[in-house]
Amino acid sequence: MSHVELAGVVKRFGTFAALRGIDLEMPDGAFTVFVGPSGCGKSTLLRLICGLEVPSEGTIRFDGRDMRGVPPAGRKLAMVFQSYALYPHMSVADNMGFALRMSGVPKAERAVQVARAAEILQITRLLERRPKELSGGQRQRVAIGRAIVRAPSLFLFDEPLSNLDAELRVEMRFELAELHRRLRTSMIYVTHDQVEAMTLADRIVVLHDGLIEQVGSPAELYERPVNRFVANFIGSPRMNFLSGRVAALHPDAIEVSIPGIDPGGLTLPLRGNGGLKVGDSVEIGVRPDELLLAEGGAVRLPMKVEFSEYIGGAMYLHAPKQEAGRLTVRCPGVQAPPNGTITLGIERDRCHVFAMDGRRLSVT
Ligand code: ATP
Repeated sequence: MSHVELAGVVKRFGTFAALRGIDLEMPDGAFTVFVGPSGCGKSTLLRLICGLEVPSEGTIRFDGRDMRGVPPAGRKLAMVFQSYALYPHMSVADNMGFALRMSGVPKAERAVQVARAAEILQITRLLERRPKELSGGQRQRVAIGRAIVRAPSLFLFDEPLSNLDAELRVEMRFELAELHRRLRTSMIYVTHDQVEAMTLADRIVVLHDGLIEQVGSPAELYERPVNRFVANFIGSPRMNFLSGRVAALHPDAIEVSIPGIDPGGLTLPLRGNGGLKVGDSVEIGVRPDELLLAEGGAVRLPMKVEFSEYIGGAMYLHAPKQEAGRLTVRCPGVQAPPNGTITLGIERDRCHVFAMDGRRLSVT
């Protein structure tokens, strides 16, 4: 187990700051996922925790101990990369036991540890093979097995499933979740795939341009994103954003006029006035599965169906970009796409209000 704490961590490469001030605590035993678009600094953050990079500023502590000057080998962690990095000339068993051999663990004990890890990962029958005789998924299992035998306090995963096909990714995701449930060791996992983040994490850290946008459980990020960036990044298909203007401000509510909405606009709950004034531009966010296809909902919105996608059990309907924005709606149980224009119902309490600087202003 490891409690990892970062305070004021900055990482510069020359004049470029890849991380611009990271404060983060990862509790003992948690499965933490770093997610964000390409180049946001996820791998750099992982490499700093691992000790492969040194922070330009700030401190990293493991269980209260400052890691400055402690090499990766002294941090009691194991890292699994996207490239499996197995030794091609060694058998699976020798690959898995290599770190133990290097640290002088006797052969018999090594064999016990390797057999235990192989059993967890169901690769016992592969122990005598060479890496080239394995599939991609099997190779990644060996790489994970090599990490398990070291009995680390912390596992670090850098996009470990990226080289696998879609089906195998899902299978390995289950296995990683099961591994964490079984070992209860702290895990930090980097991915750009928000579905992977949502399904694996206890806590997700959303990164963007070298800064943390939000830390929270998958449900917190989905239900109460702090800003437009997180709202847009988490959830598939993405949240719909409708552009509007502040028509009126009441003590605990805002009236937003949106082109094309009937009747005229939406009145939504708001904390304070959110720093807004009448006439300001805002965006209303609503997720594709929270728009109603029926006539229900307090407010109705006509939507022209441009194209549809049947995904089995549900259908996504997409509208062309219109004045207020682009729309996608998820319709459970629909098998034949409706033609022409349909009417959507919008529930007020499922809408999010975003200021133009991206802050989410909604109360709920
Ligand atoms: P990806 O999902 O594409 O792997 P990432 O979020 O993991 O992206 P990082 O690899 O952490 O991003 O890189 C963050 C930024 O720092 C990028 O702009 C990258 O070009 C830059 N960077 C990373 N390593 C170095 C380096 N050694 N020298 C210079 N710039 C670097």
